[in-house]
Amino acid sequence: MRENVKNVAGCFVVVFLIVFVGLWLTFGGNKETQKVELTPPQVHVAPIVELPKTYEIAHQAPEKYLSYDEVKNCVKDWNKTCPEITEYGVYGHNRKDDELFYLRVGTPGCKKVLIHACLHGDERLGSCALLGIMGRMLHDYGRDEDVTWLIKNREIYFVPVFSPESYLKSRHIEQGDPNRGWAYPGSKSDNTSSPIEAMKKFVLEKKFDALVDCHTFGEIVYFPSILSNEDKDAMKNLTSKMGELSGYNNGPIGRTAGYAIDWYYWKTNSPAVLIEFADGPTHNMPIQKVAPEVEKTYKMLLYFIREAPEIKLKGVVANNNTPENKPQLQPLPNRRIFRIFR
Ligand SMILES: [Zn+2]
Repeated sequence: MRENVKNVAGCFVVVFLIVFVGLWLTFGGNKETQKVELTPPQVHVAPIVELPKTYEIAHQAPEKYLSYDEVKNCVKDWNKTCPEITEYGVYGHNRKDDELFYLRVGTPGCKKVLIHACLHGDERLGSCALLGIMGRMLHDYGRDEDVTWLIKNREIYFVPVFSPESYLKSRHIEQGDPNRGWAYPGSKSDNTSSPIEAMKKFVLEKKFDALVDCHTFGEIVYFPSILSNEDKDAMKNLTSKMGELSGYNNGPIGRTAGYAIDWYYWKTNSPAVLIEFADGPTHNMPIQKVAPEVEKTYKMLLYFIREAPEIKLKGVVANNNTPENKPQLQPLPNRRIFRIFR
């Protein structure tokens, strides 16, 4: 009898221990899962609207024509005054080892626009007017809504002096006219000189979304002569709007191809224009002609910087109407290779 009682008591103890350990493992030993997840309080904070900084930049056009070194120093000073929105950069050197420099204005990662001047070194007004436009943009940042938007949404590369060696001296660079003989589909020649080679590399590397080549004189905005029919309408629309804003004329650059803007359009599929600043009648216009030209063309340039990078062009390969580049029949695919890889 006593043995039975002992056994029953023993069984109770064993069952009790099993149940206790089971309960402990289920609830007591797994405290992590017992924690109540607290949801963070929903606090609504109004976004901080940061007013853009403004810069003290002389926004009048230069009072005299600047030398290559003076232009370089002016651009470097602007970069020091507005480091948040500019960068001074060098994209190459010419044969005399002069710096081929740019001032980037805007926000890295945004659509890229290239604006260069004085491809023809003796056309000083275009270069000086471009400097006036650059200074005015930097001054207007934070003061003018449109300019502020452009600087926040575009990456603009200004090259006020294309060729330091010929700047203010000559139309020609090294072996000839720098705005003729650029390669295009079907052409047999190509224009080469140290500043042009550096620029071509720069253009291919940056893959600009829009490009401007500033010259003097004629008050006209030209678009490439090798445009495919599909792209002609888009470029006509763009340049006529630019004309409305400035009073300038617009049209295709010529019956023959081989201008810098032809090459830019061919290689980037992006809108490229040549602007002839001022009404002439000579390349050597007095400095007093610069400020009114900045006034006349400022809005037109802002419009180009905003609109041109948004235009989707098809490119020159589809169809171009240059005499040397009649449509060629594509060779038939090699049927054997075609079958293997199909
Ligand atoms: Zn020119």
